Amino acid sequence: MKIKTYNAEKMGQSNKRVVLNMIRFYPGISRRDLAESVGLDPSTVTKIIRDLQKKGWVREVGFDGHFHPGRPAIKLEIVKEVAMSFVVELTVQRICIGRGYLDNSVDRFLSFQAPQDKSVDVYFDALAEHLEAQGLPDNLVSVSVAVPGLVEWGSNILRSVPRMKWTNVDLEAELRNRLPWLEERNLDILTVNEAKLGLLTEMARNENLKGMKNGIYLYIAQGVGGALLMGEELYHGSNNIAGELGHMIVSPGGLQCDCGNKGCLETYISIDSVVRAYETRYSPLEGDFRDRFGALMEMAQAKDSQAMTILDEMADYMAIGIANLVNIYDPDFVLLGGMGSQFPDDLVETVSERAYRQLLLPLKGRLLILKGSMDVDALTLRGATLTAMNDFVKKKL
Ligand SMILES: [Zn+2]
Repeated sequence: MKIKTYNAEKMGQSNKRVVLNMIRFYPGISRRDLAESVGLDPSTVTKIIRDLQKKGWVREVGFDGHFHPGRPAIKLEIVKEVAMSFVVELTVQRICIGRGYLDNSVDRFLSFQAPQDKSVDVYFDALAEHLEAQGLPDNLVSVSVAVPGLVEWGSNILRSVPRMKWTNVDLEAELRNRLPWLEERNLDILTVNEAKLGLLTEMARNENLKGMKNGIYLYIAQGVGGALLMGEELYHGSNNIAGELGHMIVSPGGLQCDCGNKGCLETYISIDSVVRAYETRYSPLEGDFRDRFGALMEMAQAKDSQAMTILDEMADYMAIGIANLVNIYDPDFVLLGGMGSQFPDDLVETVSERAYRQLLLPLKGRLLILKGSMDVDALTLRGATLTAMNDFVKKKL
């Protein structure tokens, strides 16, 4: 009897969370559709919604405009201001700070040059100073940080960020030492590798990936990261650091990588290395690395033969990396994220064709190779928001 009660209570709690999350991910959903999609009794859904309305987390926003037998269905949405997180993206060149809300929306409100000096003290002083300047809104529940490097999943320890030359940095301690209000307000700090955030965000929002169980996410930015989806879950590995696809060696004795090895995939397909290859061989480009890489893609589109040569070489290495991974993991999809979302279609096609040729089984038609659906900034800040709000909901419901 006791066990039954316990289970029922637990179920009640998770039902509430499931319903709230459905409204977070499907704003405008009606009670009727909710009941149907989560397989709950309509009266249970009505009761849960009443509770959530009482808490001030959910509100009604008019009718859904469809014809139904009986009464028209009322649309529901999240009151986004219930919880807010400072969402932060750390990169080598820039730091972005945004506000992420319970309905998963993000306002990006600040992007500034990262310090030239990448020492932990200088970098975190700069970050803390900008966070401090945001003030302390009442609905602030956490600080959620996206990092390009090996973050131990479930902790706030940065095991290794090769591009910044950081090892074993305790991000939580660095922030708490500088910002006493984190402790005073009992705020959470969440740190996740940017590529894992990218995959989580794509899984939540990209219609093309619905129902897929196994996938490889190759995150192409100033570095190259990755994340693995296995059996519908992120794969973390024994030390919680799995997914560093960029440091797969594709050319023994090749180019020097920041990680200390030579010939890593990253040294051939990160946007920095592609831009550098072009500039060393041909001529300088303008702007930051993203601008310069963007220019390179445009030039290739306009059939500039030098730009085409450089991107063709990038495609070769990318295909090798993808083929290695597909032969090992046999996934449903390979998603090119980060700047990959902006690749021209013919580049994706070239990469795919070359990768298919190196597969042990002819998986063409069964394996989906596609580009990400969101641009690189939106992706990481959205991912940081998603993690922060999932965490908030889990704690509160
Ligand atoms: Zn490396």
